[in-house]
Amino acid sequence: MSRYLIKKYKALEPYIPGEQPQDMRYVKLNTNESPFPPSPAVVKALSAAEVKKLRLYSDPEARALTRAIADYYGISEAQVLCGNGSDEILAFIYTAFSDKENGMIYPEISYGFYPVFSALIGEPPCSVPLKEDYTVDVDEYLGRGKHVVIANPNAPTGICLSLTDIERLAEKNAGRLVIVDEAYIDFGGESAIPLLKKYENLIVVQTFSKSRSLAGARLGFCAASEEIIADLKKIKYSFNPYNVNRLTALAGKAAIEDTEYFGKCVAEIIRVREFTVEELKKLGFTVLPSKANFIFAGHADKDGKRLYEELKARGVLVRYFDKERLRGFVRITIGSKKDMKTLIQTVKEGMDNPR
Ligand SMILES: *Cc1c(COP(=O)(O)O)cnc(C)c1O
Repeated sequence: MSRYLIKKYKALEPYIPGEQPQDMRYVKLNTNESPFPPSPAVVKALSAAEVKKLRLYSDPEARALTRAIADYYGISEAQVLCGNGSDEILAFIYTAFSDKENGMIYPEISYGFYPVFSALIGEPPCSVPLKEDYTVDVDEYLGRGKHVVIANPNAPTGICLSLTDIERLAEKNAGRLVIVDEAYIDFGGESAIPLLKKYENLIVVQTFSKSRSLAGARLGFCAASEEIIADLKKIKYSFNPYNVNRLTALAGKAAIEDTEYFGKCVAEIIRVREFTVEELKKLGFTVLPSKANFIFAGHADKDGKRLYEELKARGVLVRYFDKERLRGFVRITIGSKKDMKTLIQTVKEGMDNPR
């Protein structure tokens, strides 16, 4: 720490991303990336001619991309804001709508960024425990006088709330925002975007990082009322007007327009997820019911740390969380069928040769 860091950040504990080893030694199942490359249409869109245009700034409104997203979901362009990953969108939302009087409330076990953003803007963190079965207890979020942030499906559990539950959150928290982070919604959940017609207090956040294979491009967006989007733009233009770069905007537009490729990738990941769950259960694992591109799995014979270490020593990288109620599990990203067969084989080896 330098002596210049201001007081309010001295105790800030930043989010810790999953390992990104720069050699490809591992079967990498630790950060919920897609095993599939982006759509061929994305590769085509990033032409040499477009690269040459990088001397020019990007469109600060990312209009073509925004229109494509709006069309895809049947909402107006003024209801969409794109960002440099959905993490940036979440940062805009916290900045615009949250302070000491207007705090956020979120599940105690969820995406690690939510409390970090709270800390960053100086509001005390406020979380609600999950139920015994690791599901979100919707009733606990009603009438608390706080904006609600829910990852749906939740991370790292993979458990998804129904649209009825999301609707109840929006309805019973009138006057407060309900922010639904749908990073994993395409893997079997139902998006809350159609509910925007009914609820002006809803913000739906999505990312191109998972189901559209564009984690490295950094692209996310949110959908909400025109008024909310206008507020968020105020923050964006006070912070980073050209937040979506030219190549990413092109890639994102091509990706969302290629519905066929998208459908194939998502269907395959769901199939491989179900295969993996079944195989792990045969080996005695407990697996939480996932609607995401990852599963949260544990075994009575060894804790998550040991599983993580055994797998890593054998070349398979998964994610372990050193946090209460999570220590019995590892989070395993669904990779290709081949990756998951390797995972299963590696788990078996670990069981046959206990260290
Ligand atoms: C991956 C993830 C994000 C972040 O996505 P980016 O668009 O890559 O910043 C946001 N929320 C949740 C719950 C995620 O898992």
